[in-house]
This record gives sequence, structure tokens and C-alpha cells, in this order.
Amino acid sequence: MDSRIHLHELIAQVKQRNPQLVCLQIPEGLKFNVTEIEDAFSKENIPVITILDPSFGACDIADDKAKLLGADLLVHFGHAKMMHTAQNVIYWPVFYDFDDRFVQDAVAALKKDTFFSAHKKIGLFVTIQFHSNLEKIRKGLEEGGFEVHTGKGDLLEGQILGCDASARNTISEKCDAFLYFGDGYFHSLAVAYASDKPTYQFNPFTKELEHLNAYREKLLRVRSGLINKAMDAQTFGIIVCTKKGQMRKTLALKTKAMLEEAGKKAYLFCMDHITPQSLIGVQCDAYVNTACTRIAIDDAQNYTKPMLTPAEVEILVGQRTFANYKLDEIRHFGTKVE
Ligand code: SF4
Repeated sequence: MDSRIHLHELIAQVKQRNPQLVCLQIPEGLKFNVTEIEDAFSKENIPVITILDPSFGACDIADDKAKLLGADLLVHFGHAKMMHTAQNVIYWPVFYDFDDRFVQDAVAALKKDTFFSAHKKIGLFVTIQFHSNLEKIRKGLEEGGFEVHTGKGDLLEGQILGCDASARNTISEKCDAFLYFGDGYFHSLAVAYASDKPTYQFNPFTKELEHLNAYREKLLRVRSGLINKAMDAQTFGIIVCTKKGQMRKTLALKTKAMLEEAGKKAYLFCMDHITPQSLIGVQCDAYVNTACTRIAIDDAQNYTKPMLTPAEVEILVGQRTFANYKLDEIRHFGTKVE
């Protein structure tokens, strides 16, 4: 059993709510533990059923499925709350905790990097999995002579998602550079893509520091090519997602109106899980994605037709210049999810 799950604490919280049936929603990375988790609940005589559909974020909260199953409590593993949901949901993120010594070594590695140490005012970001280390890293960097800003968007202090790095906006002017502390590129690129400030990633597992700005340059080249390709398109399929935290129907309708005003034909399509296979047979020249913002950005090469973001449609119809390129983001507690 993965000790980061802290199952005893979870079961204690579940017991306090005295549920008749608990529904568990488990992300891919924790599926190895699913039978052990069910066993632990059963030992406490708590009836439990697990949803194994892929879940990549709390945007895909399964509260409706839990209701359909007759469960009166849903435990969503792996992610923190990111939008308004019913009371009968327990969000159970899984944290990586690093000790002070580890953080000191990480800061020493950052200071050794000539490029990073040339910056003095650092914007620091983490995902929920690393959030318990935020204050330790801040303290370590401050002791190392840096001025540290964490910022707060709709999420926790310093926390970002792959579709929401709005914490960046609140501190951008105070920072010379941004630092993402965590592994993988999905989240760090949410910071790097949206800003031309020097952006770095420190991976606590490989202990490597990487400069990410080349990714933004590449992104802009690719997006410019796709927008140009879509200029000749006459028919557009606008994709709306049924996942709660990804549904932006109002934005889809607005985008449809924008395209029609520009003399294009636009259709609305709805899906739960968006894949290139789901579009096979559909006769459109280009698509606009209003679901998870990273589908258009990270998976573009998997689609045979250009897949644009709503903000890129503004460029296509002449309402925005490419110089003002805006990364598509979702403010889950804000006004953009409608
Ligand atoms: S919408 Fe996409 S990036 Fe945002 S939380 Fe969901 S899966 Fe992650």
C-alpha cells in the first residue's frame, strides 16, 4: 500500500459521516492500490464501490455517477477540490513530503545554476501533490538570498493546475523569474507557456533544473502554423465536454457565433472523453476545443485537422492579434466555467 494515501485517517473521516455506501474515484496512478483500499474499507464494514474510469483531475469529479450508484459519499483520490461540488465529497490528495535536508540540497542546486541564481525575485509554483513542501522551499530560497512570491489564483497559495496557472498573474510584476517545483512537464508548462518570463523547473526526483522557455517558443510556432492552416477552413466542429470542470458551453456558443459572423459554418459536438478516434467520420475542416485546455495544446499532433483553442479563434477572425496570444485557461471557481 502506498503510505502517502494515509488510509487510516481517511477511513476515520469517512466513519464520521456514517455513509451507507461509499463511492471511490481513483486516478490511474493509484489503481495498483485499489483492491487493498477496498479491503481496508470492508474490514471496517463500510460498503464501497470504486469507479475505474480514467480521471485526470478533480475537473472530472464523479459525484453524478456516485449518485447514480446510490452512494451517499464520494471519495475523490489524488486531487484537491477545484470547483463547487456537493457537500458529500471528500477530496483526498496524495502528497510527496520532503524533509528539510532535501529542500536545503535542492536550494543549493538552484544557487549553483548560473542562470537561475542571476534572478533575485522568484515566483514559486507547485501542484497539490507538492503543496505540503511549499513553505519549506520558500524558506530555503529566502535563506539562500532570494525574494520569493507564491501568488494565489482560485486555488491554494502557489498551487497551479495544467489548465490554471492564474497564481502567476497575481505576482508576475514582482518576479524576475518563475520556478515550478515538481516532476513531469504537464504542470510546469502551464506556467512556461503563458509567460515570456524566464521559467525553470526543479524536478525533486531527478534533482535537475531545467530552463523551460524554449517550450513556449516552440508552442507559439506550432500554434501559429495551426491558426494559419485553419484560416482556409469553412466548417468548424466546436467541442463541448460533459466533464463538470471542463464544460464551457457558453464559451462554445460564443465561439460558434464568432465563427458564423466571420462567414464560417460551425457545429457543436459534445463528448465526455475527447480523442481523435471520436472525430473519425465527422466532416469538418477544423475543430475548436472548449474542454480541458491541454487537449488542443499537447495533443495537437494526434489530430488530422487543426484543433484550435477559443482564444485562437479570436485571432482567426481578426479580433485578436497573434502578438497578444493568450493561453486558454479555465478558472474553475471563477466565471469561465459556465
Ligand atoms: S481540465 Fe485538464 S488540466 Fe485542468 S484539471 Fe482537468 S485534466 Fe487537469
